[in-house]
Amino acid sequence: MNVDVAVAGAGGGGAVLGLALAQMGVSVLVVERQPGPLTVLRGETIQPNGQQILERLSLLSALTPEVVEPVQRFHFIRIGGERLCTMDYGMLPEPYNRALVALNAVHHVLLSRLPAQPSAQLWYGAEFQGILRKNGRVDGIVIRRAGEQSSTEVQASLVVGADGTGSLVRRALGIPAEVYRYRHGYLIALLPRPEGMCGEARYYVGRGELLGLFPAPGDRVVALFMVEADAVDALRAQGLSAFKSRVSAIDAAMTKPLESLTSWEQVVLLPCARVRTDRWVVDGGALIGDAAHAMNPHASQGRMQAMADAMALAEVIGRCRETGDWSAEALASYERARRPQVEMLQRLADEQTFFWNAADPVRCFLRDRVFRGLDRNARLRYQALTATAGLRATPPLTWMDKLMAAGFLPDPRADQAPV
Ligand SMILES: Cc1cc2nc3c(=O)[nH]c(=O)nc-3n(C[C@H](O)[C@H](O)[C@H](O)COP(=O)(O)OP(=O)(O)OC[C@H]3O[C@@H](n4cnc5c(N)ncnc54)[C@H](O)[C@@H]3O)c2cc1C
Repeated sequence: MNVDVAVAGAGGGGAVLGLALAQMGVSVLVVERQPGPLTVLRGETIQPNGQQILERLSLLSALTPEVVEPVQRFHFIRIGGERLCTMDYGMLPEPYNRALVALNAVHHVLLSRLPAQPSAQLWYGAEFQGILRKNGRVDGIVIRRAGEQSSTEVQASLVVGADGTGSLVRRALGIPAEVYRYRHGYLIALLPRPEGMCGEARYYVGRGELLGLFPAPGDRVVALFMVEADAVDALRAQGLSAFKSRVSAIDAAMTKPLESLTSWEQVVLLPCARVRTDRWVVDGGALIGDAAHAMNPHASQGRMQAMADAMALAEVIGRCRETGDWSAEALASYERARRPQVEMLQRLADEQTFFWNAADPVRCFLRDRVFRGLDRNARLRYQALTATAGLRATPPLTWMDKLMAAGFLPDPRADQAPV
């Protein structure tokens, strides 16, 4: 078998790349080691930049109210205290002036459209195992398909690693990576939505504690509770009722919904990692999404950036196909186009992790002070929101802005947000 492009991994990045290439008439094979579309709960916030991409792929209209929940306001609240700040997506230009919360729906829509494209194939239960080389050049991939004894070889002009943080493609292409595992991960559960929580998400920040409550389709709420990855067993050992009591103590409205939580099996642990690599392209190979640049989820952009990578790479692949040049040089414009935004978001997410996850009084004090400062300052709030919404590649706040947000400098333009 011979294709233009072989993609390992059908997560957010791989599925979008497969679809974008198929819509351009490029022959593409996407191999996914899972036996079918993801069924594990993974609440996803589709930010405005992701909505723009889905519109370009003619998929946005498929995201009906049954499968996505629009959320306009995100309230940051001090645990045991007052509201600190509200980020209102209504400040952003229409029609992308809201976030959409989905439960794997986007993923399912993407994966259901892919096999319908004449030039695309999606193989589930197919694990990327290695790179084929001919005269030292990348020539395709080796795959192990579920239920088959021997491996399958597929010739391809370009191999793309969209296989996540632990990318095997990255290793096979010889791209070194720095993989950093964050101390904190998240426990995630899907619960009935408490009354009065419509179109508004709550994000509680405390001393070494975070609880996010995001309205989800079907009158439900996705609850994310930060935990030390090493302490999950100890937390489980304390019992489910202790965990539920803690969540109820943070938001009393969750007491009733938590009655539906009867087993730890309803709670999924999502660890967090950051990946840095000094190159995303080599001759005949490229990385997208978490394989190239996983980031802390505080950015709320990991999946969106994987999708943005896919769109940018698809455009470059179109040119490579015309010229027959699949060299690192020919692919480099993809990396040049994408790196600034990705690196800005990685740094921003790390800064947020440093302050938001903090337990010591100094950082907590500064964090709360900056939230309050942002709440009073429409200009800075707009700038911060455009980063989370994926609408900018430059840092949202300069050092002067940070001093103003923390209330150490006055801001004469505080009420000047673009309309
Ligand atoms: C708690 C938490 C909350 C998050 N919230 C958000 C959010 O709200 N918004 C957002 O944009 N991002 C969010 N993210 C980040 C987001 O989940 C990731 O950045 C995104 O999934 C990356 O997409 P990807 O396609 O690069 O990789 P993945 O989604 O990890 O997909 C990789 C795929 O490759 C497959 N694979 C792996 N190895 C092989 C192999 N050898 N052969 C074949 N297939 C293979 C895997 O099975 C998988 O399907 C969050 C992350 C966490 C941890």
